[in-house]
Amino acid sequence: MRVATGVAELELRRAELTGGITPPNVAFVPTMGALHEGHLSLVKLARGVADVVIMSIFVNPLQFGPNEDYARYPRTLEVDLAKAEAAGVDLVFTPSVAEIYPAGRQISVNAGAIGAVLEGAARPGHFDGVLTVVLKLLNIVRPDIAVFGRKDAQQLACIRRMVLDLNLDAGIVGAPIIREADGLAMSSRNRFLSPAERISALTLHASLQAAELETTPVAALAAAELVLAKAVSTGEIELDYVTVVNPATMAAVSPDFRGPALALVAATVGTTRLIDNIELTFPEPDLVEPDGGPVLNPATH
Ligand code: AMP
Repeated sequence: MRVATGVAELELRRAELTGGITPPNVAFVPTMGALHEGHLSLVKLARGVADVVIMSIFVNPLQFGPNEDYARYPRTLEVDLAKAEAAGVDLVFTPSVAEIYPAGRQISVNAGAIGAVLEGAARPGHFDGVLTVVLKLLNIVRPDIAVFGRKDAQQLACIRRMVLDLNLDAGIVGAPIIREADGLAMSSRNRFLSPAERISALTLHASLQAAELETTPVAALAAAELVLAKAVSTGEIELDYVTVVNPATMAAVSPDFRGPALALVAATVGTTRLIDNIELTFPEPDLVEPDGGPVLNPATH
């Protein structure tokens, strides 16, 4: 495995890796480091479809608000490089802030309406910062595909929309959420949770599982809210939002919506802000049993 800290070195190493392969097939996995199994699952997916896998590790100051955790964000480069190598990464790009923003910050991507709601409302400017760095990294790395986790569902939707609106070349692949055995979605920020907070944090996934059992958006939202309400009332979590949205637009679905949707939840546990989501499909009414449960396919159940 190679490591490049500068853009010129990255380009040189990329050429070395793709030189003999026709057509070169480069997959890119952008990260902020503090790698866990969620990140490594993206590498595995990339490894399965591409000849060359390039990862970036860059804690992007542009996507952190003034009162957010940029300074305390975990930085574990040595361990990360060992994990990346073991997972089959060919080249890791570890630029400095000055390498990525040599001319300061003037022109940036505006994430528009899709980036203004939910996480964007809680973290103003966050998705502008994410899209700006992702666009720059895509231009530097020039991958055929880039892999992002569905854990950050709104981020993925913003990136897909940027690729559409700005006619970018890279194919965008969304990878499944990797969870701890007890259901907590893996996150670099989970290390900030105390043992008691770690238990409280399970409420997020539990609320999504309750939503998953329902067959209409209204019932799904009510079920999730019921689970969350208890932890809110005891002060274990501070709920920011729980909602059911169209995965492509991040707009809340109408009560009579049918088809694929996403339930999203965001809450602060202690001082740590956590997000999670689950994919839901609301069947047409004639596919619902009289007792409210979905009709099970006899071929698969
Ligand atoms: P981050 O380092 O937090 O910026 O995340 C880098 C990439 O890993 C993003 O595409 C995330 O969506 C993805 N990711 C983070 N946590 C998980 C997880 N638990 N499962 C799947 N993908 C994840």
